[in-house]
Amino acid sequence: MTDATLPALLESAGLTGRGGAAFATHVKIAAATHAGADLIVNLCDGELGAAKDGWVVTHHLPEVVAGASLVTSRRGRRIRYAAHRGSATASRLAAAGLDVLEVPARYVSSEETALVSLAHGHLARPMTKRDRFVSGGRDSAGHTIEPTVVLNAETVWRVAQIADRGAPWFRSFGTAAEPGPRLVSVSRSRPSGMPPLPASARAREDEHLGHFVPRAERDGGTCRARGESPASARARQNAHLGHFDSPIVLETEAGVPVSELLRRGGIPDDHGAILLNGLGGAFLTATEARGALWCGAGLTAYGTGIGPGVIHALDPRGCPLAWVRDVLAWAGGESAGQCGPCLFGVPALARDWAALVASPTPELLAQVRSRVALLPGRGACRYPDGVAGFAASALRVFEADLVAHRSGRCAGGIPVDRPITSERKAHAGV
Ligand code: SF4
Repeated sequence: MTDATLPALLESAGLTGRGGAAFATHVKIAAATHAGADLIVNLCDGELGAAKDGWVVTHHLPEVVAGASLVTSRRGRRIRYAAHRGSATASRLAAAGLDVLEVPARYVSSEETALVSLAHGHLARPMTKRDRFVSGGRDSAGHTIEPTVVLNAETVWRVAQIADRGAPWFRSFGTAAEPGPRLVSVSRSRPSGMPPLPASARAREDEHLGHFVPRAERDGGTCRARGESPASARARQNAHLGHFDSPIVLETEAGVPVSELLRRGGIPDDHGAILLNGLGGAFLTATEARGALWCGAGLTAYGTGIGPGVIHALDPRGCPLAWVRDVLAWAGGESAGQCGPCLFGVPALARDWAALVASPTPELLAQVRSRVALLPGRGACRYPDGVAGFAASALRVFEADLVAHRSGRCAGGIPVDRPITSERKAHAGV
């Protein structure tokens, strides 16, 4: 396999990136080869509920290494394997003698340009200059960025498979638009449901959003929670969002029913709503999920697609509005805090959503809708756009729960302030 033949082979196979963006891999690799770019293999499993990168390392590491060698066949190009600091994946990579790029366990730290920044000795946060850096350049502070390409671990594994088995084999899976075998992580909320509600919504808000650290105080390559060790970041995520049972990773293909993936993932039929693709994704009602196909064409109506291949089923006994509240509160502390929408917009949305769950007035609902509308398109990366899409989708899918909260009822047993309606006022003689 030569530098010239690999992109042509990948183009005929129709391989696209498996990290979520679905960019044509042959285009990326051709540009990287032309520029002599270094390679970062992303194994961070950065999306909520994602586990496939770790699965690939456990089951197919030699093929990932072979694929990385094919992508960087020209000598002198460095290959680094990015994994969350302190994770089992990082340990496995180090034990295999690979060059590990240890990444702080924050949501945005594994974003493509954040990895490139970290690899160049800077903070693990998205670069505000939106170049792809495959050909190198300078970041917004004027630092030199060497040509670097970032590929997801599953993508690199697929490169090795295609080189070994050929494009026809690859195209025998999936659909014409989305060919090839794929991995998907399937998880569900724990049967125990939601964690206990704190004494007040404000207490929870402070608990979560107090993690913001002024830019000057950040260290260790990212904006960490105050006084928090890097190794504890993932544990913090699990503590706050402790509703993700260990995800099961399945080998599958585009075009299969979502319900089949749920069944294979061990999700009981009476599941609640489904979240596809984590914080950057969208919800489907349980009924919608039963009729949907897992492919771009089947999911675009819901505002998502195959994405990074993550499916999460909510516990039908929990309050989905409270679940979303906790995710948004966590999201407020996960950005790099360098753009307005993340510094102010996401925390404000989290605050208003928490208030809406506790006291679902029309005014608060309007306020949440307005926050959601203001977030997209204003950050240096697409993090706020993803959060806005997540919240907008939750407003659509959980409308009935909002109505129930307005009448003082909650599926998860959360105490809800019942708004004083004119009817109640009359009944109470107010
Ligand atoms: S939008 Fe948010 S996450 Fe993205 S670069 Fe700006 S502050 Fe960081």
